[in-house]
Amino acid sequence: MVKKRRCARRKNRLNKTPNSPLHHFTYKNDRLFAEDVDLTALADAIGTPFYVYSEATFRRHFRVFADAFAGSDALVAYSVKANSNIAIVKTLASEGAGADVVSAGELQRALHAGIGPKKIVFSGVGKTRDELSFALDAGIYQFNVESEPELVALGAIAQEKNLSAPIALRINPDVAAGGHANISTGKSEDKFGVPWARARALYAKARAMQGIDIKGVDVHIGSQIDDLDPFETAFKKVAGLIADLRADGCAIERLDLGGGLGIPYGEGATPPHPDAYAQMIKRVTSPLGVQLIFEPGRMIAGNAGILVSRVIYVKAGEERRFLIIDAGMNDLMRPALYDAYHDIWPVQKNDNADTETYDIVGPVCESTDRFAKTRRLQKMQSGDLIAIMSTGAYGASQTSQYNTRPLIPEVLVNGDQYAVIRKRPTFDEIIEKENLPDWLV
Ligand SMILES: *Cc1c(COP(=O)(O)O)cnc(C)c1O
Repeated sequence: MVKKRRCARRKNRLNKTPNSPLHHFTYKNDRLFAEDVDLTALADAIGTPFYVYSEATFRRHFRVFADAFAGSDALVAYSVKANSNIAIVKTLASEGAGADVVSAGELQRALHAGIGPKKIVFSGVGKTRDELSFALDAGIYQFNVESEPELVALGAIAQEKNLSAPIALRINPDVAAGGHANISTGKSEDKFGVPWARARALYAKARAMQGIDIKGVDVHIGSQIDDLDPFETAFKKVAGLIADLRADGCAIERLDLGGGLGIPYGEGATPPHPDAYAQMIKRVTSPLGVQLIFEPGRMIAGNAGILVSRVIYVKAGEERRFLIIDAGMNDLMRPALYDAYHDIWPVQKNDNADTETYDIVGPVCESTDRFAKTRRLQKMQSGDLIAIMSTGAYGASQTSQYNTRPLIPEVLVNGDQYAVIRKRPTFDEIIEKENLPDWLV
């Protein structure tokens, strides 16, 4: 019964945005499909657990976001860390996406996937000198500088190369936002950005620096934000700062508003549609006459992927019934890291089956290796498949091989075709990077 009501709610949401289905993971004759690929057959073919992505969903979400700003001068720079598989970055590149990167590795990925350097912005609190140097040589569009020492280092490196680094300072507007304390980035106690009170002075310093070319202002207040108010508060503050900076003689031509727009995970508030987000932003920023830059990650990738896993055992504990599945926290960290909620669906649905309450856990030797607590599901058996929904963002990109569990495959679906876009390594491939010192051989 509980499940039925959830489905009804989901339909309502779909109706609110008639042209933008949340995703293309649907039941056909009670079997779960990714677009036109039968997930039961896919699981038999490649083995579990695995991530599976819907290419149409990635494209759809990117377009919905980009279209919301059609007619504005805007660069949509996909946040590569959300899902950094080359095939995904390339899919988005083909839609015209730029990239927001947070390491030299991600920068290389974006370039490798065909995103031009003039569409790439580089964020992050701890860019090393090597990374700054590499990005300068690549000729990226913008460095989002997060501190005074970073500004000084970047200026010096650029000057040495006889270059000028295009920058925005990431300003911390001291606004609380984000679905969980561990994903808030815009409070004064967070490590991100330049303190609000220091912003004008630091811009004045940057203006006097040889290797620095001030282009804009950057702000990113957090992730999984399901309410327009904190965005509006932050963006208005930043618009005021731009007026002050211009009065100080700084030519500000770009405004980077970061990412952070949330997605519906099946529990909690329903985040605003990109159109509503765009309307608010146009209202706040149109008098400024700036190019807008966006760095959406989750909003593009989140609902475009799911994790398919098989039940190993159903274990009756003293107080709880555990569904022990073959995916672990190393394959999907979000529940352990942020207490994240994910809908969990049976791959073979049976609406007439009895239901049962389960704690859904993985095999990893950690108490936080748990995907859901007291979740009501149709009765499950060893060997059944389940899907952990909305895991396209911050899923595969956060995986590790803890417990020597091989990185799980990622599969991209396009209609009735699929391709393995990251394969499961063999044991030999896992240990080939490890070496015995001479004295142990
Ligand atoms: C992670 C991150 C993003 C993307 O955030 P989402 O919530 O996935 O949209 C954008 N900008 C910066 C600087 C980030 O660190």
